[in-house]
Order: sequence, then structure tokens, then C-alpha cells
Amino acid sequence: MSPQAAVAAGCSLSSGFNVSRVRGDFPALDQLVHGRPLVYLDNAATTQKPRVVLDALFNFYTRDCANVHRGVHELSRRATEAYEGARRTVARFLNAAPHEIVFTRGATEAINLAAQAFARSILREGDEILLTELEHHSNIVPWQLLAEQTGARLVVAPINDRGELLMEELERRLSPRTRLIAVAHVSNALGTINPVAEICRMARARGIRVLVDGAQAAPHVRIDVRALDCDFYAFSGHKLYGPTGIGVLYGKAELLERMPPYQGGGDMIRSVSFEKTLFNDPPYRFEAGTPHIAGAIGLAAAIEYLTGLGLDEIARHEYELLSAATRALSEIPGVRLVGTASHKAAVLSFVLDGIHPHDVATVLDHEGVAVRAGHHCAQPLMERLGLPATTRASFALYNTLEEVEVLARAVRRARELFG
Ligand code: PLP
Repeated sequence: MSPQAAVAAGCSLSSGFNVSRVRGDFPALDQLVHGRPLVYLDNAATTQKPRVVLDALFNFYTRDCANVHRGVHELSRRATEAYEGARRTVARFLNAAPHEIVFTRGATEAINLAAQAFARSILREGDEILLTELEHHSNIVPWQLLAEQTGARLVVAPINDRGELLMEELERRLSPRTRLIAVAHVSNALGTINPVAEICRMARARGIRVLVDGAQAAPHVRIDVRALDCDFYAFSGHKLYGPTGIGVLYGKAELLERMPPYQGGGDMIRSVSFEKTLFNDPPYRFEAGTPHIAGAIGLAAAIEYLTGLGLDEIARHEYELLSAATRALSEIPGVRLVGTASHKAAVLSFVLDGIHPHDVATVLDHEGVAVRAGHHCAQPLMERLGLPATTRASFALYNTLEEVEVLARAVRRARELFG
């Protein structure tokens, strides 16, 4: 296909990825905002949902709606099969075993679960938890709470001005008291892809446990928890084209087996008497109460959709968007890109000289372009960078090179209005 024909057919030039066809799968993209076609570039906050996910939710609620693991009737059997099928789909996606997959409300709950049910039991006063300067609050505050409860200490590994982890500094901060490293796979504010495999190798050599916060990696990066050899991996469904309110904690089977429950209630028990309760096996031990059944089913539909499109194709397409956006914004006078790591996912933070990021985002909104402005739940990172906030455009598989141009035009407009 000639380059012109490829563009006409909606294909991304280098990958052959048919973005026009893909966009047709996402009903929410087809709307006007302030009279302009929506350009949705707030995907790091949450993604739009393909029709297959909406259909999975609709079908569950209209045909199979019943509670899981309990009823003997047909609908309960179907609901249980779909819910456990979703667990198998997630396990395949991560290269894990189904009993290593705990459904949670999201990455935040997954990290809190690992902190309270696992790390709490291994930490003693004076022990250390190593974090990095570019963590999301969800991967800081649970560890801070735990440090207060146990007398452990947080140690923070620094980044350079490009937003890359300084690996030698990280290694230098590992001490005989380090029990756990909690690190983002991909930074939500900067897009940096961290060398988590190398971090896991360093940790393993010293008997340190690792939790990887994969909230921003799951939509962009192929994940293999066996190859990484991390102990825990957390992500959210809604950033991965799935429903809100559902997420995943992967934990190594041998660790989940040793962990006490996180919450008490139905489904997490084997037997209950007033004298003693025997707990269920993992992963059920960590899923007290009625789970988000529809959410898990919707998440599995999203994963099947993604893998059907091809994770490598998606990555290539997003790389093309990121490269084009990086070039387009760099050419605008007064724009400074924030986060220029050599290894990045499709997240582009920037500031515009003399204009507050919220004002930039407001102008962009009036042009139909949805971006995020603020500290991105990464206040320590913003402090490190000496910025109160940035404007962030984050791309997804359904974004186009044309939308990158609309973004650049809208940023120029903001500059004209405020400059
Ligand atoms: N970790 C990172 C890197 C994130 O970007 C986010 C959300 O933005 C989270 C954790 C928390 O995800 P959730 O709010 O879905 O639990």
C-alpha cells in the first residue's frame, strides 16, 4: 500500500494498524465537545471503552446476572464460569496462574492489599521500603501508612532531570534493612518506562521483595510476571479499556498462600463458628464479599480485545503518536517537555512559559481536546522537578496523527491567547 493509500485507509504508516476501524469500536469517541470533534488525550487518567466491553457488561446484567460461587442454579453457574474465566484471561495476559490473580477495586486497592496483608507481616522497626521519586500517590501513601504502623522507614531513589531512574543511586540505597521495593513500571506523569526487570534482579540477589505498580504499563507494555520475577504486580481495569471499579493484584502463589486475609466477610472463608474461622485458599481469601463480577467480565473482554488487535501493533502505533506529538510540541516556542526519558510510553507532559497548566488545559478543552492538568497525583515528583503542575496529553490505541495536529494547533492557540 502506498503511504497515501495507507492514510486514506486510516492505517498508521509504519505499523499497518487500522486506526479508523479501531475508532469505530469506541462509541464515546464519536461526539462533539464545545462544538468540536472530541480529541480524547486523557487516557492515563482513564480510557474510553470498546463496544465489546459494553456488550459484555450488558450481557451479564441482562442474561447471566447472579452471585458467584454460591448458587446451584443455572444463572449462578454461568456467572461463576464467566467470573473465573475472567481470572484465567487475566492470568494469561500476565503469564501467571489463575490462583495468583486477586480481583480488587483497582491498582490502589491492590497495593494496599499487598502492603497490609503481606508487607506488614515482614516489616520490623528500622526496616526499609524503597520507593522512587516518580511514584503515584497510590504507591507512596499505603507504604507511609505501613511505615507508621511498623516503625519501618521509606527510602527514596532519585531520578535525573529527564525523568529516568538513577540506577546506581537506587542500588546504593539498598541496605541490609531493605525488605521491599515498590516501583512504578511506567510513570503516569512523565511516561518513563522504568527498568523493572533489572530492579527485580537486584532485589532477588539480596532477598528483597518487589511490588510493581503497573497501572500505566498494562495498557502500553507487554507484561510477563514470570520473566520479571516480581513478587506482586498491580493494575487497574479502567486504564486498560475495561470498566471502573475492577483491578488486579498478581502475587506469587507461595506468598499469597502465606498471607493472612485483608478483609473479612463472605466467600473468603472455609468455615465460620463463633470460636474460630478457617480461611479459604488464595485468591478467594482476599476477595471478601460479593466481588465486582461484571467488572471482571468486562476487564476480560477488554484484554481479549487488546490482545486480538495485537499488543505489538498497538505499541508501534502509540510510539508513532508519541514521536509525532513530541516533535510537534517541541517546535512550539515556549513549550518545555517534562519527562524526556529515552524509554517512554505514550505520555507527554509539558509546560508553556508563563501560562498556568490549568489555563492551557481549559483552552484545549474549548478546542475539543481533553487533557489533564495538575500534579497528576505525584506531588513529590512535581517538587523534584520544581513545578507545581504540568499539562499532560496521554495517548491510546484509538488516537490518530490528525489528533496530534489538533493538539499542537490548540497549544499554539493557548499561547496566542495568553502569550
Ligand atoms: N499507579 C499509577 C502509576 C497510576 O497512574 C494510578 C492512577 O492514575 C494508580 C496507581 C492508581 O490507579 P487507580 O486509581 O485506578 O486505583
